[in-house]
Amino acid sequence: MRPEILFPLFSPITSLKGVGDRVAPLLERVAGPLVRDVALLPPQGLVRRPVMATEAAVEGETPTFDVIIGAHLKPARPGQPWRIQAIDRTGAVTLVYFKGFGAHLEERHPVGSRRLVSGKVERERQGGGLQIVHPDFIADPQRAEEIPVSEAVYPATAGLASRAVRRFVLTALSRVPELPEWLDPAWLAQRRWPTWRDAIVGLHSPLTDADLNPAAPHRQRLAYDELLAHQLALGLRKRLTRREAAPAIGRGQLATAVQDSLPYRLTDAQARALGQIRDDLGSGRRMTRLLQGDVGAGKTVVAMLAMVEAVDAGFQAVLMAPTEILARQHFDVLEPALAAHGMKTALLTGRVKGVAREKLLATLAGGETQVVIGTHALFQDGVTFNALGLTVIDEQHRFGVVERGRLRAKGETAHLLAMSATPIPRTLELTLYGDVDVSNLDEKPPGRTPVATRAAPMHRLDEVVGRMRAAVATGAQAFWICPLVSESDLVDLAAAEARFEALKAIFGDRVGLVHGRLPAAEKDLVMTRFVAGDLAVLVATTVVEVGVDVPAASIMVIEQAERFGLAQLHQLRGRVGRGAARSSCVLLYDPPLSQVATQRLDILRQTDDGFLIAEKDLELRGGGDPLGLAQSGFPAYRIADPMAHRDLIRVAADDARLVLLRDPEFISERGRALVVLRELFDWRADGVLSEGS
Ligand code: ADP
Ligand code: MG
Repeated sequence: MRPEILFPLFSPITSLKGVGDRVAPLLERVAGPLVRDVALLPPQGLVRRPVMATEAAVEGETPTFDVIIGAHLKPARPGQPWRIQAIDRTGAVTLVYFKGFGAHLEERHPVGSRRLVSGKVERERQGGGLQIVHPDFIADPQRAEEIPVSEAVYPATAGLASRAVRRFVLTALSRVPELPEWLDPAWLAQRRWPTWRDAIVGLHSPLTDADLNPAAPHRQRLAYDELLAHQLALGLRKRLTRREAAPAIGRGQLATAVQDSLPYRLTDAQARALGQIRDDLGSGRRMTRLLQGDVGAGKTVVAMLAMVEAVDAGFQAVLMAPTEILARQHFDVLEPALAAHGMKTALLTGRVKGVAREKLLATLAGGETQVVIGTHALFQDGVTFNALGLTVIDEQHRFGVVERGRLRAKGETAHLLAMSATPIPRTLELTLYGDVDVSNLDEKPPGRTPVATRAAPMHRLDEVVGRMRAAVATGAQAFWICPLVSESDLVDLAAAEARFEALKAIFGDRVGLVHGRLPAAEKDLVMTRFVAGDLAVLVATTVVEVGVDVPAASIMVIEQAERFGLAQLHQLRGRVGRGAARSSCVLLYDPPLSQVATQRLDILRQTDDGFLIAEKDLELRGGGDPLGLAQSGFPAYRIADPMAHRDLIRVAADDARLVLLRDPEFISERGRALVVLRELFDWRADGVLSEGS
């Protein structure tokens, strides 16, 4: 239930003076549907209006002039503006008004009257006189206070100017109540932050650029509030999912037997992750765990051993992959390993049809098939399990909330293990995955040789192709990646097709092309030929096949590498260097490279640590949308900036954890204030793995 004190903030924006049917949708687009959203809309900039002489004016700035109205110049022809000539001791300025409100202007500002005028200064033409088109303010000097010395600038939209938004923000601000303090008193005292209300007032009355900086005390305070509210929401959701009952799957002998028969030993990281998963499985509570690890870290075997554990306890397990080819690869690895220990594994993809499918489904429903690996086909009606105990989702970010929900419906109480190869900096992990448990594979299996990485300008393409040709002659395989910003980008697609044709001229029919617009079956066919070694070069526009294992592939060429995110480049590079051969990665770029782009490519050359790369990427990109996280369920904060406030994220996460531990029902004085905070921010978004409450 929403505390009464928040009611004014949760009124619709139409309750603000001046927000009618025309303005409401525009203001909603800029800020949101509620008064709260308008009150929390941070200004993006600052306009200062210093009083100065006309001769001191700088084009593009917004000074205030103290002038005498000299003349009104009526438009000579319709469509021309009304002009007012005004002078001060040092010069003249023309005030320009389009549309026909001339007579009214003459009445309001008669010749000889003194006025303060403020607005953006321009030149009428190169070397011409000063002018202000539609001054922001024109006031009698006796009412000088009407012109603010400085003014916050807000985002605008077509039909709703920044200054109109500002007016609504100030109206909303007048509705902001003083709220009970929810911050820990010691922490507040240490940071010397203002109260919540003062912070909001400070947010909207910047006097200098420093006041707009994320480091300004009022911004920090509001960012912390927002982060804390989010962490509390995540923590509460985690608590809820942890309360759900699920089959207790004890530690059996079978998983150990399978593990012992592996041709290698688990890395410490794998053993640790497996231990955490086994604890969850045995707890009687539903597991919601993310297994995170760089490409090649060895997530599959951890998932396999967890599945064996489920089977040993009499349950079934399912492994879902985003593509047919990945599902098949998993099947090829897992099936023999499990069969050797008496387990029956099936592969269910869109290709399995007719009688074969019927038979398969019957063995699933009957329980004879214990492990099933597949694609989206697993969601379909008719797929039922006898006793599903564990669901594993590979490359989880490739699935939407709806898809995960549908799979979940197949086994209401099944444990969930999601796998992701997108390394997330630790600080962001707290915001992205705060509602689930995370196991990190922060160590790679031994014996990998790092991929030799170099950057080369596009004009050295011939050299690159020449070297590739020599390598292919000795049996090597190569990926050739072209950028594709969106699936609908026909220009990029055409460029990829052109590259494909050009390489065909050299490598003949040993070149294949996959892109997002290709039907799934054709894409799979090309991929299969590449995996089988029929194709020597695979031109691809997308990262669709992330996760595919082609051990013989040892060359990765990435065209226009500067257009990819670092994390993405790292993932692409991870496609090679899996076999014994020494692998290489060439980052082709269109010179000249910006300084940041140079630094980014340098990072890739220097390190192979996905987490470090993710962290650096975040640093270099600054705020905005780090790593393109907006699509992966990353929260859209209003004020908090994941980069600038990264230290606060950590503190907020600890703070929230302690609150939930010490005052789980929010009954202390601070606890009750925190309920107000939670409601104020009202996080309802779906989690990355769990559904929203
Ligand atoms: P990813 O985490 O990217 O899914 P995979 O599970 O595909 O990685 O593993 C990559 C490769 O590493 C596989 O060929 C797998 O057999 C191998 N592998 C996994 N764990 C180990 C280990 N502990 N020692 C040696 N090789 C391993
Ligand atoms: Mg994998």
